[in-house]
Amino acid sequence: MNILVINCGSSSLKFQLINSESEQCIAKGLCERIGIDGSMITYTPAGGEKEKNVTPMADHTDAIRLVLEALTNEKTGVVKNLDEIGAVGHRVVHGGEKFSASVVITDEVMAAIEECNDLAPLHNPANLIGINACKTLMPTTPMVAVFDTAFHQTMPEEAYMYGLPYEYYQKYKIRRYGFHGTSHSFVSKKAAEDLGKNYEDLKIIVCHLGNGASVSAVKNGKCVDTSMGLTPLEGLIMGTRSGDIDPAIIEFLAHKENKSIDEIMNILNKKSGVLGLSDNLSSDFRDLEDGYFAGNENAVRTMKTFCYRVAKYIGAYTAAMNGVDVICFTAGVGENGPLVRSMVCEYLGYLGIKLDEEANNKRGDDTVITTPDSATTVMFIPTNEELAIARETVRLVK
Ligand code: ADP
Repeated sequence: MNILVINCGSSSLKFQLINSESEQCIAKGLCERIGIDGSMITYTPAGGEKEKNVTPMADHTDAIRLVLEALTNEKTGVVKNLDEIGAVGHRVVHGGEKFSASVVITDEVMAAIEECNDLAPLHNPANLIGINACKTLMPTTPMVAVFDTAFHQTMPEEAYMYGLPYEYYQKYKIRRYGFHGTSHSFVSKKAAEDLGKNYEDLKIIVCHLGNGASVSAVKNGKCVDTSMGLTPLEGLIMGTRSGDIDPAIIEFLAHKENKSIDEIMNILNKKSGVLGLSDNLSSDFRDLEDGYFAGNENAVRTMKTFCYRVAKYIGAYTAAMNGVDVICFTAGVGENGPLVRSMVCEYLGYLGIKLDEEANNKRGDDTVITTPDSATTVMFIPTNEELAIARETVRLVK
């Protein structure tokens, strides 16, 4: 069965068509600037040339129409008609406490997703627009929602509660939810599979280090803690997000800089993280690595602070699980950044970790980067959220 995987943002839409039997991506692409001047679609059939078309898209329905046209196009399309698309899997950012697993989309499910809009005002409405657009254009094709938060719903109360008045949890559901769940689930399962061990017997820490970054603790196949919170702002220092800070800084800065809460939040989300900490050198770790090796003090400070924070979370999650068997690095930086991995592992001598430098410098598929006598195994595993969404979709529609 071919599964169309859709990841809808407020003005963008990423898609992949995945064959569920071979688990290969048959075509993929991106619509950008939806509803804005200069909209464009990029489309790449597997093994073919990337095509880029600047074409107006008034809304997400227009964008999905163009995606379906590209997929069925006579020359470069990959399917003859829409009947060859068996189901659609949608990435949905926030499932609140309502969704602890993926679900087949019905009118009731859409209403429940809408009820979570408050918790992710930038993301959930866009996800719903994508679902509605597909419903209009492919009314009989089954659709599944896969939530970023679902994998973390197994966290115990002590891990998800904040030290705030309890009434705010009761009234507004303010608690920690966590994100990147599809990736943490995919990578932790893959680690067990690669090592030939039973997923339910392992204590695994996953470090998803991309532009957005989070760590999770997976004990006996269940997530028991994760570093992002009510929103994706908490936890690690990220590309442009601050991660954990003293909340009193918000008031302090608002007074000193004469800024509103919204302006401060914009700084914490878009101007902080490694970008801000490096005094605007870059949010891209390739630039920061280059700077680090060249002895640029902004890059050195940033790399050290970033890695220290990751190491602290690993320590915390080792405590939370009373041990750790496997540590996995994934996403852009985790998969491609040997410097970050080795700088983090330098803090982990107490876990008996012995890094295999040669393996750590490799790129590509899943790789163990510790020596055989290392007491704890460290690996890098490329994440594949689209494949995970396609698998969930097939499981639910079959
Ligand atoms: P997201 O999906 O959150 O936007 P990604 O998982 O694609 O992010 O990760 C993006 C990050 O990965 C960027 O900061 C980029 O610098 C980093 N990255 C990509 N390739 C490399 C590389 N070869 N070396 C170091 N970092 C890399």
